[in-house]
Amino acid sequence: MNVVSTRNPAHRATFRHALTANLTPDGGLWIPASLAPFADLDALLELPFADRCAAILQRVIGDEFSPVDLAALAQDAFQFPLPLRQIDAQTWALELFHGPTLAFKDFGARLLARLLALHDQDTQATQPRTILTATSGDTGAAVAHAFWRQPGARVVVLYPRGRVSDMQERQFATLGDNVLALAVDGSFDDCQALAKACFNDPQLSADLRLTSANSINLARILAQVLYYFEINAALRSQGVRQAPVVSVPSGNFGNLTAGLYAQQRGLPVSQFVAATNVNRTVPDFLAGGPYQPRPSLATLSNAMDVGAPSNWERISALFGADRAAMQQAMRWGSVTDAETRTEIARLWQLGWLADPHAAVASAVLQQVRRPGEVGVFLATAHPAKFPDAVQEVTGTPVQLPEALAALVGRPLLGETLDNDFVALKRRLAA
Ligand SMILES: *Cc1c(COP(=O)(O)O)cnc(C)c1O
Repeated sequence: MNVVSTRNPAHRATFRHALTANLTPDGGLWIPASLAPFADLDALLELPFADRCAAILQRVIGDEFSPVDLAALAQDAFQFPLPLRQIDAQTWALELFHGPTLAFKDFGARLLARLLALHDQDTQATQPRTILTATSGDTGAAVAHAFWRQPGARVVVLYPRGRVSDMQERQFATLGDNVLALAVDGSFDDCQALAKACFNDPQLSADLRLTSANSINLARILAQVLYYFEINAALRSQGVRQAPVVSVPSGNFGNLTAGLYAQQRGLPVSQFVAATNVNRTVPDFLAGGPYQPRPSLATLSNAMDVGAPSNWERISALFGADRAAMQQAMRWGSVTDAETRTEIARLWQLGWLADPHAAVASAVLQQVRRPGEVGVFLATAHPAKFPDAVQEVTGTPVQLPEALAALVGRPLLGETLDNDFVALKRRLAA
């Protein structure tokens, strides 16, 4: 697969290059040079999930990786279920939270870890790689788990001190070994800016073989493209052939980017919905205002507390920066924490327990859907990751899944770090 820079299509590279090179030479992001539709979509949708993932990966990157390796990788990386649950007559939730860290970020992290291992094996790398990731909660957990004890890899997780949930922190800060957790005195946007400063430092990048595990890495987006196909496959198996409206709870907009890429590849989606909490940078722009990145606000759906969404650059590039085209292709909306709580309660009445992120997607879907439409929203985290918010609304304690119960009482190994590039650089070199 050829990739090009969001900022200049003359900057061209291979997928393998994008996998390891973080930003483009002009400071942009790597995007696919072409997103031609798959000719045999119906046949693809009939395959079981792992087989379909293997088939799509082989088509997209099979010119650069061994198709046999990719098939084995797809079987191994996605061994957990992703059920499409019916919520009411016209609405379904795609549950993406049954992976090892109970959030959808397991998909991207597990594919990325395996592709990097294959790449280092194929290129006979000898020096270890440092995987650097800024997290608003769930990325850190997924990435730390995906790379934990992987030979030739060290993981550094930057997270905003006191702004991730206790359970989220336990998931990445109790592992140890090749995982270093750094609690930054600042917001998620500060963590993201620190990571970006590291990637923009050529010496540091080369010395540490610094690799991004954030959604600026195209491999993560590619992993997410795969599960959108499951929406239509599962709807068809339930007898529904109408193209759905799909609501995506968004923060950095990597997930929505992946959905739009799946649509370009031919997946029948009638429209995507960009759903946010009160961090309204994108909804305000789509509604006609200036594109104005701003400091993030803390909310219940904390993994979406992003004021300067890094993947918007990819979506903007997809539409040639044409706002009218984006307004035609998408719907949008945002909700407050109060509206999020109301939606958790409404869904609970319908018999389904939502975490705050899924509730945002569902609430915005309710705002924008039209009569007769099939609606799907993505459920990106297990409700047990946010027990306080959920229990407050439902009045019932959330049952902790085994993966989380095992973490209670483990010592936290995170170190604090000033919001300062020089301090981070010093710690990374130590
Ligand atoms: C990261 C995250 C999101 C936001 O996804 P983006 O790709 O950053 O838009 C939504 N929900 C949960 C639970 C997350 O962890």
